[in-house]
Amino acid sequence: MKFETKAIRIQTARTAEREHSTPLFPTSSFVFDDAEQMRSLFAGEAEGNIYSRFTNPNCRELEEKIAALEGVDRAVATASGMSAVFASMMTFLKAGDHGLASRAVFGSTYSIFSKYLPEWGIEVSWLPPRAPERWAAALRPNSKLLFVETPSNPGLDIVDLERAGQFCREHGLLYCVDNCFATPYLQRPARFGADLIIHSATKFIDGQGRVMGGLIAGDAERMEKVHGFCRSTGPALSPFNAWLLSKSLETLAVRLDRHCDNALALAQRLAEHPEVVAVHYPFLDSHPGAAIARRQMLKGGGLLTFEVRGGLEQGRKLLDALEWLSLSANLGDTRTIVTHPASTTHAKLPVEERAAVGITPGLLRVSVGLEHLEDIAAELEQALERSV
Ligand SMILES: *Cc1c(COP(=O)(O)O)cnc(C)c1O
Repeated sequence: MKFETKAIRIQTARTAEREHSTPLFPTSSFVFDDAEQMRSLFAGEAEGNIYSRFTNPNCRELEEKIAALEGVDRAVATASGMSAVFASMMTFLKAGDHGLASRAVFGSTYSIFSKYLPEWGIEVSWLPPRAPERWAAALRPNSKLLFVETPSNPGLDIVDLERAGQFCREHGLLYCVDNCFATPYLQRPARFGADLIIHSATKFIDGQGRVMGGLIAGDAERMEKVHGFCRSTGPALSPFNAWLLSKSLETLAVRLDRHCDNALALAQRLAEHPEVVAVHYPFLDSHPGAAIARRQMLKGGGLLTFEVRGGLEQGRKLLDALEWLSLSANLGDTRTIVTHPASTTHAKLPVEERAAVGITPGLLRVSVGLEHLEDIAAELEQALERSV
């Protein structure tokens, strides 16, 4: 079956009510017929539900769907994207290990790697995302894992997934990819040998700004370890969130097509504007990663960034000149969202650190929504005019 069909037709077995759409299972535990059934489930000899921290039918449907869409054996759902990142690292790294990570990663991922893991004796070295020829210099005898995010948030850096896969095979590293911006519809890291694929389901997978969620996907053996860690430590996804997220996946392909078409057209239009000095979008020829992005992604994604001529002040003025586009921390929503990283999410970073991940003072990030392109473009253009 093709992607769209799997996203719709992978479904929990119907109950005796013969419902068409999967029902919600808001239950913390499950009952057993007798002592023997209970024993065999706890012993792991039989498969089935015990307690919703371990498994729940709504979570399992979402997990089976994501595993099929990513082209891997199994997935584990978690309460947020960050719990997915954290559980992945804690499952496979221990004190004395060393990890390698692209410098262009999500802010909280950066905090896990730079603040928390070192407190437990795990060192992480930062790699330049666009210069894989320099990665080998950071290897140590105890290097265990490579973590990359592509396209990155918010700099839209593109990491060459094939090259990263070769690097991991040559050096025996566990290959982890944060696939949040692309989703499995646009990019399937398993094709390039990724061992663990991590998602914030809060973004395009929900796609409607309603719930938090995370996913980790990979082969059966590794996912057994991840599931064991999550089962004991408890970053479980709520059945309600899983139910919504699984429903959302049914429309992922059609939503992403429109997000991407709107984003590309908006990027081209903003590039013509006299107040805009640069537009960054993975499928624009001017993007340094465009050739790689076209090789590994179906379309360019729903995010773009642009830089206004007047730097920090104009960036702030532009936010205030917006009449109806949202100022919000989320992305991947039906609603177009604009953020100004230099004065908000990345304000605490020293200027050089910000520059290293492509955040200039006048950079604005747009999560291009599903409103009509003409309305989105007109709203940004009027704000640009008033921001001068
Ligand atoms: C949002 C985001 C995360 C974290 O996900 P949450 O669901 O907010 O915990 C991780 N990686 C990327 C690329 C993100 O955009």
